[in-house]
Amino acid sequence: MIRLLDVPGGRAAEPLLVGKLLRTPLAVSPAQEIVYRGELRYDYRTLRQRIGRLASGLARLGVAEGTTVAVMDWDSHRYLEAYFAVPMMGAVLMTVNLRLSAAQIRETLDHAQAEVLLVHADFLELAMRLRGTLPRLRHIVVLEPAAGVDPAGVAGEYEALLARETADFPFPEFDENAVATTFYTTGTTGSPKAVCFSHRQLVLHTLGVLGALASPQFGQSVRHGDVYMPLTPMFHVHAWGLPYVATLLGLKQVYPGRYDADRILALRRREQVTYSHCVPTILQMLLSAPSAANTDFSGWKITVGGSAMSTALARQALDRGIDVFAAYGMSETCPFLLANRLLQRSGSGSGDDRPADDEVGNDEVATRCLTGLPLPLVDLRIVDEQMNDVPHDGRTVGELVVRAPWLTAGYVGDPAASAQLWADGYLHTRDIASIDPAGYVQIRDRAKDMIKSGGEWISSLQLEELIARHPGVAEVAVIAVQDQRWGERPLAVIVPRSGAGGPPTLDDITAHLETHVAAGTIPRYALPDRIELVDALPRTSVGKLDKKALRAQYR
Ligand code: AMP
Repeated sequence: MIRLLDVPGGRAAEPLLVGKLLRTPLAVSPAQEIVYRGELRYDYRTLRQRIGRLASGLARLGVAEGTTVAVMDWDSHRYLEAYFAVPMMGAVLMTVNLRLSAAQIRETLDHAQAEVLLVHADFLELAMRLRGTLPRLRHIVVLEPAAGVDPAGVAGEYEALLARETADFPFPEFDENAVATTFYTTGTTGSPKAVCFSHRQLVLHTLGVLGALASPQFGQSVRHGDVYMPLTPMFHVHAWGLPYVATLLGLKQVYPGRYDADRILALRRREQVTYSHCVPTILQMLLSAPSAANTDFSGWKITVGGSAMSTALARQALDRGIDVFAAYGMSETCPFLLANRLLQRSGSGSGDDRPADDEVGNDEVATRCLTGLPLPLVDLRIVDEQMNDVPHDGRTVGELVVRAPWLTAGYVGDPAASAQLWADGYLHTRDIASIDPAGYVQIRDRAKDMIKSGGEWISSLQLEELIARHPGVAEVAVIAVQDQRWGERPLAVIVPRSGAGGPPTLDDITAHLETHVAAGTIPRYALPDRIELVDALPRTSVGKLDKKALRAQYR
């Protein structure tokens, strides 16, 4: 029989609580800086005091254990304060997706039963409009007062609230399985669903991500001395959990406010940022910003996830000195599951970071774009429809299913969807993947983005990867369109690259892909028989390609 840990006269196991992530940085790096837009900076001691003051202020507004406190802000030091203060009180932090429609924001605030809303002045008008329809919402606190905003009906202004309060809030100890955060999956596939994460899950996720990012032998790694700036919004899966990792490590942290490419690049230079993470669209936006022209970005490490990173984009970034690697996860998984790293290095590089002038070979670029290797504690399988494991040959595809200590227990208030998510005891990602003998996983497609042509599967991601290598292509999305004869056929929707000798034609793209047919990379039936040229591709609220919108457009 299992013997539980119970030593008479001793102490029970210490619960894993989010607040405990602050212990080491406060002991070791108390003078390290937190910077907001280059306009405000303070140290970790002040961070800790402000967390206490925020908790005292929230308690005065009636926030208690279990209360939901929602935040609508751009990436800021205040968001970081809320990441700690709210869960440390035993309350639940709801991060509101700023890019949802007003109706969806209302629906999610209502569903989460938010009682207090901390809101940036940019969204105050919306918050005031929604308030009358949200009977549970008792208080609104405005984060950054702006000219012309009428504070009537607002419980107060954030800085004034903190200034009045004591930093000595008595944060309680409680069960590590208490809910710490909640937010809504943005879904390219339906209406938002609520996921939530416990203290234990957030702490273990932080340690798992740290283990994966800090340990690589070659290339990118995150460690003491790095300067961190998130470039995935803090409302989206806790900015991939990396503010918690950066805090635990005691790094200097730089919060950029509302994303603006030129301001981000200026901040990076001024604050000497060395580590960020973003979706491919943001990386592309930064590389093509006017102020990025002729800039050497050496020393900047960026984890690229949320969508596949094409080798064309990775090459562009590496040529400018940015050390890029892919990573993978989803809202339901807190989010990290896979992070990429080099298991070996070919060529002249040493065991440490790559020197700026050391050219990266094509093989290494391809390896950096593989989706990744599992994080510590992640159990992953790639299975067929009967849950049998597919061979680890780098070719056979199946659905990626996972277990890990930090996956959402389900969708709150939706037992049917939760049961589907967790069918057969594994979380179903609905992503189609292969795994090679070395353990690298490659996401081939979302299940619903695969194209079934004449009974054979075509990977839209693989076609996008190959088409993106054409010099006339700036961006591309491949979707399935109905076809009388074949069921479905691939359609390539292309944003042409300006100044590349005119937009590509279908013949150009076909000739370009023919070499990959000849090399056996793709079958002939995967060649698109139609392309569409567009000025821009539709994006989801977190900057990913919105294939649902594209499919509707070209139905
Ligand atoms: P979300 O829950 O909005 O963060 O979206 C999660 C989904 O994004 C996953 O299920 C994948 O389909 C996709 N995704 C995330 N990272 C990657 C990646 N590195 N490569 C390909 N697809 C990715």
